[in-house]
Amino acid sequence: MLGITLVHAVLMTIFVLDLVERQRDFLQAYNIEQTKSLADTLSANSVSWVLANDVVGIEEIIQSQQGYPNLRYAMILSPEGRVIAHSNKLYNGQYVTDETSNKLLVAEIETQHLQISLGLVDIAVPIVANEKFIGWARVAIDGDAYAAGLQVISRDGVIYTLIAIVVGGIFAVFMARGMTADLQKLVHVASSVSEGSSERVAVNREDEIGELAEDFNRMLDTLEENSRCQRELEQELRSRRDTLEEQVKERTIELEHARDDALQATVAKSAFLASMSHELRTPLNSIIGFTSIVASKKVGDLNEEQVRQLNMAHASAQHLLGTINDILDISKVEAGKEGVIATFFDVRSLLTELIELMTPQFDKKRLTVKFEIQGGNIDLCTDRDKLWRILLNLLSNALKFTHQGGVSIRCKKEPQGLAIEVEDTGIGIKEDDIETIFNAFEQVDSDDSRRYTGTGLGLTICRQYLYLMGGDIKVRISPGQGSCFCIFLPASCIASCDLTDSAETGG
Ligand code: ADP
Repeated sequence: MLGITLVHAVLMTIFVLDLVERQRDFLQAYNIEQTKSLADTLSANSVSWVLANDVVGIEEIIQSQQGYPNLRYAMILSPEGRVIAHSNKLYNGQYVTDETSNKLLVAEIETQHLQISLGLVDIAVPIVANEKFIGWARVAIDGDAYAAGLQVISRDGVIYTLIAIVVGGIFAVFMARGMTADLQKLVHVASSVSEGSSERVAVNREDEIGELAEDFNRMLDTLEENSRCQRELEQELRSRRDTLEEQVKERTIELEHARDDALQATVAKSAFLASMSHELRTPLNSIIGFTSIVASKKVGDLNEEQVRQLNMAHASAQHLLGTINDILDISKVEAGKEGVIATFFDVRSLLTELIELMTPQFDKKRLTVKFEIQGGNIDLCTDRDKLWRILLNLLSNALKFTHQGGVSIRCKKEPQGLAIEVEDTGIGIKEDDIETIFNAFEQVDSDDSRRYTGTGLGLTICRQYLYLMGGDIKVRISPGQGSCFCIFLPASCIASCDLTDSAETGG
């Protein structure tokens, strides 16, 4: 604030000084102009009187100048410096001797500014007649009055400047106080709002501070609105989270109930199947036994048709028994009652036994069956019965779906474990059916397959058993247009290895 007042004072002072200076220059120029004009008039009017050496006439002309305000003196001088006529008659006839006049006597014959100051302007103009210099017309005008006027102007200027500075200072102080007070209000409200208050700035001004206060209040309104929305959203979020938690709890309870129900249903199903299979297997075994006895004609003679019919009933009962056994096996796995009973055995003995069992059936269809163990015999430690059942099922299928050629089994160790491939030269499997044949009761729906008996459970059981043993089964189309089923057993099923033997072949 002091700075503003000082700048204000300096500017005002410069302005007044400049004004006074200009006024002084103007007055001096005006004085010079007036004095020269008077001297010119005096010179022109006195030519004939000087030529005639008429002192009375010249004095009259001088006297006529007397009425001019501030005239200090007017005189006509001869070229030698003698006063021919003077506004103060006492000087008439005398010679001028002062320093200024002496300069004039030796000066060029032209207008001479003998003295130019604010207090006095003294100008001499040559009197010339017929190009002959005959004297000087000299006029001096007093500038004291102008100087006094200038002093008054300067003094007034200083006074007005001081008044302006004081008034300006007071005005500036009041302005600053007003601004500071309102700005302090802003600061106060900002700090109280940050502490949670909903106060607003009360500034009734229409200047920039007023606009600032309005903008500030608007900003606070927006902030309050935003935080209110945020609070509502948080509340909504909390309530939704609570609801969600509640719903998750409810669903969890429902799922637990459903799981318990499902477990109970599975137990009930297993119990049902176990009792049903028992109930069915007992009479079925009786049927199989009695039809076999009767068909063997041990209890009486039969004609050929009766034997054929009995054999058909016997075969149907066998098939039914196989289906019931399969269903029982699957239900046991699903109920979690089937476990892995690991024993030590070697692959070669297992395959030799299996092939021996199946060879008569293969021979009957004039098919070959052989196996190969790459890298020597392999000792295993896993569930032998299940692996037997899996390989038996694959060989039975290969036998069923192959009409010429034969089946070959290949075993080899891989970094991940053991791979056994059962490849036949049979009817093969379409690409689209590769995934579905492992589903329960799934049989390939083709004209050709309808000629084959089966339940569609064999491969399902194979896969379930392999899952239990930590393995898997896949099928691929054999290059010979047959099928190739690949069993994988994990490395943990391999008991030891013997890499010294080369490939062995059996069958
Ligand atoms: P099924 O008792 O019908 O043989 P599987 O589960 O063992 O039941 O086999 C399912 C189906 O997969 C069979 O019906 C057959 O269509 C197809 N399949 C299985 N093995 C072979 C194979 N070696 N060659 C061609 N098709 C096969």
